[in-house]
Amino acid sequence: MNIETVATQIGLEWDTRTGAVSVPIYQAATFRHPGLGQSTGYDYSRSGNPTRQALEEGMARLDGAARGFAYSSGMAAITSLLLLFKSGDHIVVTEDLYGGTYRLFEQIFQQFGLEFSYVDSSDNSLVEAAIKPNTKALFIESLTNPLLKVADIPSLATLCKSRNLLCIVDNTFLTPYLMRPLDLGADIAIYSGSKYLSGHNDTICGLVTVKDPALAERVYFQQNGAGAVLGPQDSWLTIRGIKTLSVRLDRQEENAAKIADWLVNHDLVAKVYYPGLKDHPGHELLGSIARGYGAMIAFEVKSPELVERLLLRSRLISFAESLGGVETLMTFPALQTHADIEPAKREALGINDRLLRLSVGIENVDDLIDDLEQAFRAE
Ligand SMILES: *Cc1c(COP(=O)(O)O)cnc(C)c1O
Repeated sequence: MNIETVATQIGLEWDTRTGAVSVPIYQAATFRHPGLGQSTGYDYSRSGNPTRQALEEGMARLDGAARGFAYSSGMAAITSLLLLFKSGDHIVVTEDLYGGTYRLFEQIFQQFGLEFSYVDSSDNSLVEAAIKPNTKALFIESLTNPLLKVADIPSLATLCKSRNLLCIVDNTFLTPYLMRPLDLGADIAIYSGSKYLSGHNDTICGLVTVKDPALAERVYFQQNGAGAVLGPQDSWLTIRGIKTLSVRLDRQEENAAKIADWLVNHDLVAKVYYPGLKDHPGHELLGSIARGYGAMIAFEVKSPELVERLLLRSRLISFAESLGGVETLMTFPALQTHADIEPAKREALGINDRLLRLSVGIENVDDLIDDLEQAFRAE
């Protein structure tokens, strides 16, 4: 079955008792036992909740996984995954990383003896060179944030297999609709469901999919043991969002491609990062491993003064963190999402005081372009 259909049908046949088309929100903490030593399959909602399970099973189907898991946030999902490792283990990480993940690794997990090395994961030889005897995993982003570099997941996954490392891909920016990391050889995909999957800037959620059933059992143990599960209301909101994922992303991508072309030709723009552009270094690779280029754009304006003008004078486009929702948002990575990375390191990565990031929504694209243009020209 095609992925649009799988997404739309999540939860449809869950409630056989009433035939409810929308999965019920099981706002229950605990479940009655039918007899001694018996269970309905549900005992306590940290261990399993029907609404969450509908989402988790739906995510597993979307990603071609053995199992899916839903957490209270993307960071909670990553935290829970890191509990698979122990003191002394080393993880190779993409350097152009979501700022919150970097903070979690450097300021929290390092204290517990986990070691991290950061490399440009769009260069396989740098990844290979960073592997040490105690390396246990590779953690990459399918499209990096904010510069939208593309990692060669199939060959990195092959490298991981040959060196016995877990290949973990944060696929937040593409979602299973545009790319399925497990099909490309990854072991685990993680998502901030707060972004495209829920899609309406109204929910905080994290999701994990795991290919191998035995590994999935270990991930379940951590999810239940550490307990950062997604509540039933937010599980329902995420299911509701996923049902329209394909139409939202189609429109968002179409809008993003037009805006990227417009920015390329703008006299006040120095540089545009969008993988759908033919001269983007990851354009061809992404075209071969994904079914689209997504709807995130980063662009560098010619002077730092333009940053404030664009952020504050845009009328339709909101100056806000986050991404992936139906409303177009603009953010300033150096001060927002990437504030926890040291300034010199940020500058070296290209995340400078002129770089803006757009999460393109589903509005009429001409309105978005008009809005940007009036902001560029504002006094
Ligand atoms: C937002 C985001 C996260 C963190 O997810 P939360 O739901 O905000 O906790 C992780 N990775 C990427 C790529 C993100 O964009």
